[in-house]
Amino acid sequence: PSASQRYTVTLFPGDGIGPEISKAVQDIFAAAQIPIDWEVYHVSTKSVKPGEELIPKEALDAVKRNGYGLKGPLETPIGKGHKSLNLTLRKALSLYANVRPCVSVPGVKTKYENVNVVTVRENTEGEYSGLEHVVYPGVVEMIKLITREASLRVARYAFEYAKNNQRKMVTAVHKATVMKRADGLFLECCREVAQEYPNIQYEELLIDTCAARLVQNPSRLDVMVMPNLYGDILSDLCAGLIGGLGLTPSGNMGQGCMLAEAVHGTAPDIAGKNMANPTALLLSALMMVREMKLFEKADIVETAVYDVLREGKVRTRDLGGTATCTEYTLAIIDKIQQRI
Ligand code: NAD
Repeated sequence: PSASQRYTVTLFPGDGIGPEISKAVQDIFAAAQIPIDWEVYHVSTKSVKPGEELIPKEALDAVKRNGYGLKGPLETPIGKGHKSLNLTLRKALSLYANVRPCVSVPGVKTKYENVNVVTVRENTEGEYSGLEHVVYPGVVEMIKLITREASLRVARYAFEYAKNNQRKMVTAVHKATVMKRADGLFLECCREVAQEYPNIQYEELLIDTCAARLVQNPSRLDVMVMPNLYGDILSDLCAGLIGGLGLTPSGNMGQGCMLAEAVHGTAPDIAGKNMANPTALLLSALMMVREMKLFEKADIVETAVYDVLREGKVRTRDLGGTATCTEYTLAIIDKIQQRI
């Protein structure tokens, strides 16, 4: 990007703690002089009638036009006839891959200290195609759909991600020993794409072996790419390795656009109390900054966050501290200002 280029990002602050953590991200980005203008859409399930779209078309078009969106958590009322928000977003924005970098957070004690893995999950087909039917009572059949097009697309994203983020290896996770054709095709596509990236090591690993390796020695893995169901499970397993969903950033890659989001919910128990931890949303927003190739800016903010957490003096309650969201935000801003 040229030095003067600015980006517009569509921001959905969301419900509950969403507005508080979104403001923290905006304040921190302003302090780091990240060239982003926010286009804010206040979307809330509270103001939507059952059956209506949770996110209006205008807002979705804005994400497509800008190429970038950041989403705080939204409350999804259960059993009130609302369409699934994630499904709506995935379809409307063709979000084909979910990407979660799981990197150990300094000062957060977990079993392993140096976890640094990324899961890239195919997000449109596989076991979640929604194609299932009752053959006759007591017998249900489900279709696992694997296409060359979607497999090549997600594999290519994984290798591009590895290349852009100085990663050394991509592992395709599969069960082609049993699902010879379906996972076989997925692997075939990964191998094909791997050939275009001779500088990135490529390996294949059975999903069960991969799960065992992740809990025994996560440092043997780097970027992992896999069909939908395996990705759903392993991405949460990896989040668990670094201290849970509350610290894990997440990015959804679409056709010409990206939607970054925190994977935690609206935290109704602490909403409005200035107690929320904005780290997951902030790290998600940094994934977006890296997609903009503003690597230096992303590094400055990330280092500031990690410094504050490592020192451990200013921490929110969920991490055992007493700081408010505002105090934690200001501590990060202070570190940033020391560096720029
Ligand atoms: P939750 O993640 O909101 O809360 C679980 C626990 O974690 C709570 O104790 C909460 O205080 C804490 N927590 C979560 N995020 C935190 C943060 N950033 N800082 C400090 N503490 C945090 O999960 P839930 O209670 O099961 O769900 C509440 C609502 O959120 C529901 O309406 C659900 O539909 C919605 N939800 C939305 C999303 C999303 O939009 N991506 C995801 C999950 C849940």
